[in-house]
Amino acid sequence: MIWDPGMETMDRARLRELQQTRLNWTVNWARERVPFYEKRLPPSGRDHAIFEWFHDVPFMTKQDLRDHYPLGLLAVPRREVRRFHASSGTRGKPTVVAYTEHDLAMWAEVVARSLAAAGMQPGETLQNAYGYGLFTGGLGLHMGAERLGISVIPASGGQTERQVQLLLDLEPEGLSCTPSYALYIAETLEQMGVDRQKLHLKTGIFGAEPWSESMRRRLEERLGIRAVDIYGLSEITGPGVAIECAEAQNGLHVFEDYFYVEVINPKTLAPAVPGEVGELVLTTLSKEAMPMIRYRTGDLVSVNPDPCVCGRTSVRISRVHGRTDDMLIVRGVNVFPSEIERVLLQEPLLTAHYQLAWEGHPSRPELVVEVEAQPAARPDTAAMSHRLRETLGVHLPVRVVPEGTIPRSQGKAVRVVNRMSQDR
Ligand SMILES: [Zn+2]
Repeated sequence: MIWDPGMETMDRARLRELQQTRLNWTVNWARERVPFYEKRLPPSGRDHAIFEWFHDVPFMTKQDLRDHYPLGLLAVPRREVRRFHASSGTRGKPTVVAYTEHDLAMWAEVVARSLAAAGMQPGETLQNAYGYGLFTGGLGLHMGAERLGISVIPASGGQTERQVQLLLDLEPEGLSCTPSYALYIAETLEQMGVDRQKLHLKTGIFGAEPWSESMRRRLEERLGIRAVDIYGLSEITGPGVAIECAEAQNGLHVFEDYFYVEVINPKTLAPAVPGEVGELVLTTLSKEAMPMIRYRTGDLVSVNPDPCVCGRTSVRISRVHGRTDDMLIVRGVNVFPSEIERVLLQEPLLTAHYQLAWEGHPSRPELVVEVEAQPAARPDTAAMSHRLRETLGVHLPVRVVPEGTIPRSQGKAVRVVNRMSQDR
């Protein structure tokens, strides 16, 4: 179902005009209200030709948000803010984002479109197992689901046996959470001896961490669902910036009437051509409280401008291949955990739980792939290692560990651990 056919199937030329109008609005709004933008945007008066100069505006990064922590980039009076969210700050100082009433309505709108694209219908029920709180996943999905007219079970993350009970008792058609948590729910379901035919689930909306096609197939089989990838980030709004449609399950439609998309080569900063993997750069087109102009997301994607079978006319971004800051360098070769996942999970004898461990001495670190095998299975680790080498171009030893050894994720999975010796 297409929630807003007028916008989602708009002809590309008209969309471009709308983007131009909204980019002008955003640039003027930001320039007049935020000293940071006043310094980096050209003076007003060239609005008619924004595409002639917009691509010369300097990029923003997370560091700009940190430098202006907490509210240095706020573009409205404090009393007009209706909500704050914040990042956890696991990679440094936390960042705070703010929303006006208008911003919250826009966010609910894009999440409603997302859920409809995923295959959910008004009148159905969504079990929302994203964490509620400062993280945007919980409340973001919640508002959008209500806007679409579906009932929400605000389960939040954790208490996994209770999640299973709710799936059985309240019979939701949809489940939203991180893919790693969905896997844990599926495993718990099996451990509790629940027949999945008893569930009413048909749609999984999974995101907030990179995942692979192999993981999708596992989750679809084990939960009896169709699973789609949802994308978003708090700096831009939260989940709902882009979503796969259930029809194609092949790339995520970006809601381009609200978000202007660029992909750049993260080293040279030159624009990437369609199909080329680069860093996603987003500009908000209607955000009042904290507009973002040419924000480098750190997420590596490619863009596909081809028409889609679902009828939406927006460009699609690929699944996130990885984040520029998640990239591992193993003996000079760049490797993303999600690529390792994709190769590993082709092996049916494995559970889908894995972890990457840095071992050895810091002067000669070795990345070991730890996997759990299905009960009583003896997967061929040498063959898996060989397959990883063929695909990634680097030798990674694979070690099978007992079932249950790898910590289960109730939110974003920790894929990489450091066990290097600290002595000299
Ligand atoms: Zn589509």
